[in-house]
Amino acid sequence: MKLALVGVGDAGTRIVDRFVSREQATGRSITTGNILVFNTDDRVFEDTRTIPEERRVLLGDTHSAVKRRPDSADVSASAEGKGGDADRVHTGTHADTIDSYGVGGDPDVGATVAEADLPEIRRALDQIDETEVAATMLVAGLGGGTGSGVGSVLLEELNAIYETPVYVLGALPSTTEPDRRALTAARGIRTLVPLADATFLVDNEAWRHGTDSVAARHNNINEAIVTRLLALFGAGERDPEAISEMRVDSADLSRTLEVGGVATIGYATHELDRDDNDLFARLLQLLGLSNDTDDGGVDAATIKRLIRQALESKLTLPCAVTSADRVLLILSGPPDTISRKGFETGRYLLEEETTTVEVLAGDEPVSGATEITATVVLSNVTDIPRIDEIQRQAVSMHSLSTTDDHDTAGGSDSDLGDDEREDEVDP
Ligand code: GDP
Repeated sequence: MKLALVGVGDAGTRIVDRFVSREQATGRSITTGNILVFNTDDRVFEDTRTIPEERRVLLGDTHSAVKRRPDSADVSASAEGKGGDADRVHTGTHADTIDSYGVGGDPDVGATVAEADLPEIRRALDQIDETEVAATMLVAGLGGGTGSGVGSVLLEELNAIYETPVYVLGALPSTTEPDRRALTAARGIRTLVPLADATFLVDNEAWRHGTDSVAARHNNINEAIVTRLLALFGAGERDPEAISEMRVDSADLSRTLEVGGVATIGYATHELDRDDNDLFARLLQLLGLSNDTDDGGVDAATIKRLIRQALESKLTLPCAVTSADRVLLILSGPPDTISRKGFETGRYLLEEETTTVEVLAGDEPVSGATEITATVVLSNVTDIPRIDEIQRQAVSMHSLSTTDDHDTAGGSDSDLGDDEREDEVDP
């Protein structure tokens, strides 16, 4: 599926950059240059490798609540810009903190900045050619002031101008981050999920490895996210000449996601060893002397096992798989290696395990691939312990809050360093 990517904040910028870089490295053609990133702090822009300068939009130039680093040209010598109150994530520190640059982690400031910069946002969005894509995806860290605040304004804007679906990919904060991130993420989920055509969530908590530095952790998580997104949105964009009766197409993905809500992705791979393509093994099988395979290539049991592994793998957002409304299975690999019987039994397994009859399945033939991958999308999942936890954390932070009862509907002049905020979060 051709997809425009719009990254917001540090997380969104890094993930879009990684996506494009992997897209180019794997010879896929998904975004075809339809990318944009928005931020209120330009430091992460400098680390990007694939995003042209005219596609990087720095917001908040004229907004007094936006703090730039001291050496930043546009806010030079700003006293406020000096001495961030915390280490930056990309410095490699182990601490998960919120710094004071950009919008200082405050989504209300983020939303106000975006509203003020709407003309600039609209000019930037003009660079995306909607006729070239089947959908757009907004990518953000939902615990971020820019990701959630600017992201919510951008999502409204994208919905207003695009007729094609607008999806969201949102990263959830980990438990090592300040409570304020959970509160922002809880609000972000509440605002963005109903507005988006579907929202892929990634739980940084489930994907973090205890001892990693924050920067290394984000790199690893971003790699995992991009691998799954490419398997999903890239299916059908590679090797168009390869023949397959059951080729997956973008309509299958749209149909899976059209139920809206929260979606999660499972993924597993099977390395093809020589036996899988071994002519002798094929001959035995043709002569009926091998019970290993049924209709060529990898045996049915292996394919079924691979599909089970994908379902039982660490999902981008762990959840009860039985709560899914629709399921999509994509098997990708050399055209002649995917056992038809394995495919069908795997699909039946998905129906049973997820207790849904709405299981769509297709393959992506990739000549010369050295592995088979199974990608499973579960859409509109509802039983999600991590979201319950984030909401509980947000509610308890809310009830602890004793400070002034300022309105959260955008534009509050809150103290950026104050973690105790009055916000409304439904339990
Ligand atoms: P923003 O720039 O104000 O939106 O804030 P950040 O993007 O720095 O952080 C927002 C949330 O996203 C936090 O919960 C971070 O843990 C998370 N985050 C930041 N960078 C990354 C990243 O590169 N990958 C992932 N998966 N999460 C990130």
